[in-house]
Amino acid sequence: MTQNIYQQLGLKQVINACGKMTILGVSSVSPDVMQATAKAASAFVEIDRLVDRTGELISRYTGAEDSYATSCASAGIAIAVAAAITRGDPACVTLMPESSGMANEVIMLRGHNVDYGAPVTSAIRLGGGRVVEVGSSNLAACWQLESAVTENSAALLYVKSHHCVQKGMLSIEDFVQVAQRHNLPLIVDAAAEEDLQAWVASGADMVIYSGAKAFNAPTSGFITGKKQWITACKAQHHGIARAMKIGKENMVGLVYALENYHQGQAIVTAEQLQPTVEAISAIRGLSADIEQDEAGRAIWRVRIRVNAQELGLDAREVESRLREGDIAIYARRYNLHQGVFSLDPRTVAEGEMALIVARLQEIADHAAD
Ligand SMILES: *Cc1c(COP(=O)(O)O)cnc(C)c1O
Repeated sequence: MTQNIYQQLGLKQVINACGKMTILGVSSVSPDVMQATAKAASAFVEIDRLVDRTGELISRYTGAEDSYATSCASAGIAIAVAAAITRGDPACVTLMPESSGMANEVIMLRGHNVDYGAPVTSAIRLGGGRVVEVGSSNLAACWQLESAVTENSAALLYVKSHHCVQKGMLSIEDFVQVAQRHNLPLIVDAAAEEDLQAWVASGADMVIYSGAKAFNAPTSGFITGKKQWITACKAQHHGIARAMKIGKENMVGLVYALENYHQGQAIVTAEQLQPTVEAISAIRGLSADIEQDEAGRAIWRVRIRVNAQELGLDAREVESRLREGDIAIYARRYNLHQGVFSLDPRTVAEGEMALIVARLQEIADHAAD
């Protein structure tokens, strides 16, 4: 079999059945998006105009006044924070991230203070922000948010993520009200979200997305929101944003990926997964069925239950043997403690499901080794 580009560099072939993860290279970019990216890479363009035009095109999908493409969502957080602190003033921009003497506090819920592979607070500090946490890790009240606002406040930050504590937190509406009452910008980290419009429509001033997560773009991110604040974001290009530059080619790739996304994704249906379910259930010690996404999205996955007594291996051991084979197969492993793991078909290429089934068979055949 021909080697893929990573094998040619001496790395393992990976089958990704766990979803869009930074540790596996996030998403796979479609050939037509890559073609647009390649064409953009080989030609010259007036960059300031490309930045503005990219912002206009992104805004068509988000419904915002303007947008600014970044190298990733983390860069978007840092730049949005710097925009809130400097408000685009050129003298302040060149000082960032040194912000002493300026109103530089970024207020967020303790239950939103997450690590997505790096702490969200690192991105805030890169943008010159000082983190002010509100509430307890499992509970927050609106008065706590309100009373954290002082003359040193620069912005409120709301994080929407499966990493956040999902109960006892405040709503986006609470944040919008407090932000408006105190005339502070509201930043929303919606990095992995799929809905391009809801957060802008809620009244947030700067909403940050990752291009590579939901939208299968080349490495990129963007900030979308109110004109005044996006202008202040663009001003950071002459300061911290230079160290987070997105190239012309990835700006174009992002625009084409959003266009593809807008036209709708191919959904893998439960029926299409049925043959895989049957093939896995025929393996000694394994049984499979289909589960819908826990958050109710139109995603169906193959759930595999390991009968440890019959197989002689428990779910943890099966999952780790999958990852450690000649081909590294990554499954969703959130429920291993219940003897279950699952396969997310969205990132599995054609022919790879058969390789997963074959590997499971091999693991069952050699369970005693
Ligand atoms: C992934 C993620 C980020 C960072 O996105 P990058 O594009 O990888 O920088 C930020 N915030 C949240 C909540 C995320 O899930």
